[in-house]
Amino acid sequence: MEKKNNKKKSGKLDMPFLEKFMVSPDNYEIFKFGGTSLRDDERGLRTMLQYFPDYFTEEQIKENMKRYNLQTMFNLVKKYFKKEYDYSGTEIELSNRYQNTINSYIYNDERKPAFVHIDELFESTVMAFLLAMFKWSKDFENLETYGECFKYVLFLMNDVCIFGEMQSESANKALLEAVGGDIQILQLAEDCYWTIVVFSLAHEIAHAYLASTGKKYSANHPEREEYDADMIAYHIVLKIMIEEQGESAMLEDYTYLAPMMYMDFFDLYYYTDRVLYKTVFYDPEHPTPIKRKNRLFAIAYKKDYNFETEDGNHLYGGFLDVYDEYRDQLLLKMERRKLDAILHIEEREQIRRSGDDEERSDRI
Ligand SMILES: [Zn+2]
Repeated sequence: MEKKNNKKKSGKLDMPFLEKFMVSPDNYEIFKFGGTSLRDDERGLRTMLQYFPDYFTEEQIKENMKRYNLQTMFNLVKKYFKKEYDYSGTEIELSNRYQNTINSYIYNDERKPAFVHIDELFESTVMAFLLAMFKWSKDFENLETYGECFKYVLFLMNDVCIFGEMQSESANKALLEAVGGDIQILQLAEDCYWTIVVFSLAHEIAHAYLASTGKKYSANHPEREEYDADMIAYHIVLKIMIEEQGESAMLEDYTYLAPMMYMDFFDLYYYTDRVLYKTVFYDPEHPTPIKRKNRLFAIAYKKDYNFETEDGNHLYGGFLDVYDEYRDQLLLKMERRKLDAILHIEEREQIRRSGDDEERSDRI
């Protein structure tokens, strides 16, 4: 969730592992076409049929994929930018490959066509995170589920977020085993996922919109632009919830706190890095996820929206219980040296040495 401005950053890369794919000195080419694609819709479809055999037919899943995908959400967000801000941003494109980062960004050098990047890793990580958190919250008393979900969230934070590794097929299966065919959890996770996708897309386009208005941010307060982008993005999310109703509904209104969960997701990621590797981020440009979350709350409860659903509050309450539990358990297990086997101290040190910390902190 950052702004990538070539002029300002003069060739500095923000993505920790992009180097692997670097072939051209031109950043634009690297960002736009860098990375690979690991997406396999056919396999995804088979997995769904295998783990939720009683709920879907192949046709339904295909129908669902046609209706809800990154491109349709991107178009929807643009439609609302036109409507709410009279900003068309038609030239902005979508880029969606695997560049080993969970961060989305917009590339805008104001010469070449701007594009918003949503990584494949972002998609699979956010979805997996929500599944594990909701299942954990729902079956909190079940020790086996508790253990599996804790391990899975830890794996996501440690291997996927910190080291940028895509979950393997066996990791996905382990997660789906833990979910155990619980269709309610799948639906909650999917609904929240799309709200988060819309929020992220709108946040990135908001950077382009703000640039187009010529609004200048003082160098002393670069974080203000992030708050503004969040505010616009959340406005768009809530508008879509309010206005697209019934048959054409794209976002479920009970997911109105999903952008807060997204901030909590980043908070857990940074927290895990702090506990496991003693990494502390310093980032003047991006306020902490918790500060951003608090601003979002202020928007949600504004009179213009008057937005609050009991189901949404309940879901978020359960989520927060698990969020706290994860933090406590992580610290406890670290102190008792129960996590030694999962630490990749040397790899983390390598990233640190290659100066990525400085760049990493530049994100979200
Ligand atoms: Zn941003």
